[in-house]
Amino acid sequence: MNSIYNKTFKDLEEYFIENNEKSYKATQLFEWLYSKRVKSFDEMSNIKKDVIQKLKEDFVVDKLVIKKVERDKDVNKYLFELCDGNLIEAVLMMHDYGKSICISSQVGCNMGCKFCESGRQKKVRNLLPSEMVLQILQVEEDINDRISHVVVMGIGEPFDNYDNLVDFIDIINHPKGIQIGSRHITVSTCGIIPKIEEFSRLPYQVNLAISLHAATNEKRNKIMPINKVYPLENLIEVIKKYIAKTNRRVTFEYIMLKEVNDSIEDANKLCDLLKGMNCYVNLIPYNETNNIEFKRSKKDTILQFYDIIKKRNIAVTIRREFGSNISAACGQLRSKKEDL
Ligand code: SAH
Repeated sequence: MNSIYNKTFKDLEEYFIENNEKSYKATQLFEWLYSKRVKSFDEMSNIKKDVIQKLKEDFVVDKLVIKKVERDKDVNKYLFELCDGNLIEAVLMMHDYGKSICISSQVGCNMGCKFCESGRQKKVRNLLPSEMVLQILQVEEDINDRISHVVVMGIGEPFDNYDNLVDFIDIINHPKGIQIGSRHITVSTCGIIPKIEEFSRLPYQVNLAISLHAATNEKRNKIMPINKVYPLENLIEVIKKYIAKTNRRVTFEYIMLKEVNDSIEDANKLCDLLKGMNCYVNLIPYNETNNIEFKRSKKDTILQFYDIIKKRNIAVTIRREFGSNISAACGQLRSKKEDL
């Protein structure tokens, strides 16, 4: 059955017009779903009975099953079951500026990054827009509070599920929808060039983050197979175009992997690569997992790396860590569950 949460505002306007109804019904429907947060069509009391009946024939007001929640003081980790039994994860982080959620975009992932738990598990399927929207709605319901920021950085490669991603962004950003401001939405990609180009043409001011993790093709090829398809020089070129077109700052994520990409030389190469770009670097202390041999760089090494970048006048932060004691790192809750 088709979830009502798959539908953008425009889809619903078209749906009502096709069914000889006024398009303003889309506003009413969005208000019931996203302001009043009803759980069934029957609760939509200002919509005529025959329209409700038609909606019930065409759509469902569905839900994901929350299989497990792990709670820490500044992070909650959710394991969801989809209607076909697949499992996905979302992580809620409590910041001083608000609450952010890291959502999944696919069941598994085909990008095969060597350090990543999700990549080890291969893509089963794309998530529907509704399955991304419901991660937000159900976490908000669980905490009885609003989420201010959304990052698409959980399981999956969002640009390998592009159309559903764009519908999802439209629904959560819409003034009658969940109303997450576009500047509060970040999409993270391993670097699928044609989709970065498409993304730059979108009307939304959504943030883009690039999982870089290495500053030469030689190193990046070893840890991120996607680099063999879209090599670094082409990736940097398209990002420069993206910045020129959108006038927005891009984030580069850089996982610190012990003795893989964390030397002084690596830091200098990274600075050479990013010189003059409107960007900032987010250094990520690697979350070690039992199944993968990579180790986290030492604290001093991370600080040294940070200092080099800072001295070269490139904006840089070290990612604050949330919930490493409840395996908040990507894909780890799901993979633990599958090991049971
Ligand atoms: N596929 C997208 C988004 C999902 S991965 C992307 O590649 O950006 C989100 C981020 O988590 C990426 O930067 C990814 O490289 C990183 N990541 C994966 N495994 C990690 C781990 N064990 N520790 C820290 N970061 C990890």
